[in-house]
Amino acid sequence: KVCELEKLIELPAETLDGGKLDLSINVGGDLDMLDLKKKNPDGIGLFRSEFIYMDSEFFPSETKQMEIYEKVYNDLGGDRPVIIRTLDIGADKHLSYYEMNDEENPFLGLRGLRFTLSHKSIFKEQLKAILRVAYGKNIKIMYPMVTNLWEIEEADKILQEVKNELKAAKVDYKDDIEVGIMIEVPSAALLADVFGEKVDFFSIGTNDLTQYILAADRLSDDVAHIYDCYDPAVLRAINMVAEAGIRHGKKVSVCGEMAGDPMAIIAFMSFGIKDLSMLASFLPRAKHLIRNSDMNDIRKLKNKILSCRDSNEVKDLLKNYVM
Ligand code: PEP
Ligand code: MG
Repeated sequence: KVCELEKLIELPAETLDGGKLDLSINVGGDLDMLDLKKKNPDGIGLFRSEFIYMDSEFFPSETKQMEIYEKVYNDLGGDRPVIIRTLDIGADKHLSYYEMNDEENPFLGLRGLRFTLSHKSIFKEQLKAILRVAYGKNIKIMYPMVTNLWEIEEADKILQEVKNELKAAKVDYKDDIEVGIMIEVPSAALLADVFGEKVDFFSIGTNDLTQYILAADRLSDDVAHIYDCYDPAVLRAINMVAEAGIRHGKKVSVCGEMAGDPMAIIAFMSFGIKDLSMLASFLPRAKHLIRNSDMNDIRKLKNKILSCRDSNEVKDLLKNYVM
């Protein structure tokens, strides 16, 4: 069975009736690209840049970051898109060389874009590295933990500032770089139709979105029975984002762990989501599922999923479509 799945690797993620999906991979920590490339992904949908910071003795320089981004891009083939997520620390992710303020509720505290917006020089150094390395390449930027419009505007202002500095210094950089946001805070899902005017794409981070919608810590065993990504509240939020993206003509992808889960893939397809980013090891199974599915059939499931009352009803429905 495993061998058969591996044979699919060179084939596109296309449904029986010709629907096409893009399957990318999440990268962070393990940089064995040789292995990753073997899975033939359509791109890197989530490059968790914080692992570069966590593996360093101090904040990594612009040059060091550029070397890593460039290597990853080239190792992947040199033409497939790579989405670099800006530093996402705080909550459970810490740097040995930098002491964060003690917080009562770190998951509700200074993390992700909130941290980089309040540490502008760290943010600018990273944006400079990304803008420079992206010159002539298919590299995009993504902000994590976006909560409100002000943060997007503020981040864009800083990005423009960095561009102006690079221009003044006559350094090559990608001026028309695409900028997207993670949707992983409930406010961002509720306001996706507003944020869609400001950004080039959305990527739904279902790990955090599930935790914040259900107010259940993603790391706690005690509330693991509440933390359920098949809760219809989570699925309705994901569908809102998909609808907002479709309305604005912006790409919507899913990059949380859910993206590699067969039953969830059926739900995403029913919502019209065509981009998924997952652990490389999940790619063959996802491709097998998609290649044996009928998009038109699955699209009819959307309203049924959205009218489920709990996660059991959702799973009972979806399991019939998974082989
Ligand atoms: C997510 O929250 O779903 C996500 C992809 O980001 P991370 O797991 O790195 O928080
Ligand atoms: Mg997250």
